Amino acid sequence: MVDICVIGSGLVGASTANALVRDGAGRVLLLDRGNAGGGDSALTFGMVRRHYTNPVLIQLSMAGTEILDHWDEEVGVGSSAYVPTGYLLPVPERLVNACRANVERQQGFGLETRLLTPSEIHEVEPLLSLEGVAAAAYEPHGGVCDSRLMIDSWLLDALGRGLELRQHAPVAAITFDGDRATGVQLANGERIEAGQVVVATGGWSPEVLAGIWEVPFNLVRIQVAVLRLPPGQVAPAAVTSDAVSNVVVRSAAGRDVWVVAYQADTPIISVRDDCQLPLLDGYESAIRGPLGERFPTLAGAPLVGGWGGAYDATPDWHPLVGQVPDTDNLWICAGWSGHGLKSTPAIGRVMASLVTGQTPAIDVSDLAPDRFARGFENPLAYGPGARA
Ligand SMILES: Cc1cc2nc3c(=O)[nH]c(=O)nc-3n(C[C@H](O)[C@H](O)[C@H](O)COP(=O)(O)OP(=O)(O)OC[C@H]3O[C@@H](n4cnc5c(N)ncnc54)[C@H](O)[C@@H]3O)c2cc1C
Repeated sequence: MVDICVIGSGLVGASTANALVRDGAGRVLLLDRGNAGGGDSALTFGMVRRHYTNPVLIQLSMAGTEILDHWDEEVGVGSSAYVPTGYLLPVPERLVNACRANVERQQGFGLETRLLTPSEIHEVEPLLSLEGVAAAAYEPHGGVCDSRLMIDSWLLDALGRGLELRQHAPVAAITFDGDRATGVQLANGERIEAGQVVVATGGWSPEVLAGIWEVPFNLVRIQVAVLRLPPGQVAPAAVTSDAVSNVVVRSAAGRDVWVVAYQADTPIISVRDDCQLPLLDGYESAIRGPLGERFPTLAGAPLVGGWGGAYDATPDWHPLVGQVPDTDNLWICAGWSGHGLKSTPAIGRVMASLVTGQTPAIDVSDLAPDRFARGFENPLAYGPGARA
């Protein structure tokens, strides 16, 4: 019998398990069907920004980034490899007012951010073409971090404090007494009793909760292309998410530049295991146009690799955080819709508070899993699918 069983050891599960053992929540067991951190957390682009529309995500991303930035004091083991390169969000004329309102809302929470004019954008990122760009939101302390190191750090710290971790232990079912979750059954038939069960299985959550609750998200395939700059060519400084051409660009290790192009016809996958890791045919040509539009000097850099993963995208592109509807002692934190990374240091602490009956430091009631059934959706300043 354990006090709390966390299913899934990605960024969400590892952060939650770490916070639970630090809070002295009793016997905590973390299960993963494969290697710890081997899900979508291993595939992230690594971008850290706090540019959001709604207070709950502004606060979670701000609190999460504080922890990334003060990893030694906050976690004390390993590193987040957080590098504040700066974050730029160029917008076209039609989105300037929405962007200004977002920036002002974020400033109201104390975030250092401002709206740049086109000439100010060039001071931050000289490589950027200003064609079609009317303004940009800028966070000087946005940047990049390393999910692999974060997960390893949380697990090492938590194992030292008594966390029980079992890898290659797939959960086949959650067990119940009436509506109350009582534990899990592993694929090998083993039953584990638990006082509380936390589902942190990202894109696999529909299978884990099959027959219990229909998880409201789509799996949207997303791809990261790796280009290698020829010697002498300058790499981009800031991590840039361009709302004009829909291309996202960052510098990575060595001379690599990572590129995501959001495509209108992005494939929806029905089951997470159907998402192939290699880049799909045609993706290279899909990135060349928007990349050339925004970063002309990078457009010809050769493609040397890349990968595909899945966004667990809810109808309002906000995560599902809280009690699984119509159950007791069963919690979910999933559906991060492609932008969970920088909030996970904070959401682990929030989940630990919720599961142990404390009031979380950040009010996450707008992320309640039953919100769509109640007719509530979080608004998005830039319209559907904008992830802000
Ligand atoms: C390509 C890509 C780029 C991204 N870029 C960014 C970015 O730049 N910035 C940002 O903020 N976010 C980004 N994200 C989003 C971010 O990576 C995710 O929000 C985050 O990794 C989700 O973590 P998770 O723990 O919910 O899921 P996962 O990391 O997928 O973890 C789920 C875990 O559950 C385990 N599991 C599944 N089923 C079972 C079972 N039956 N039993 C036991 N274990 C099970 C899996 O093995 C896995 O380890 C990106 C995502 C993708 C796919």
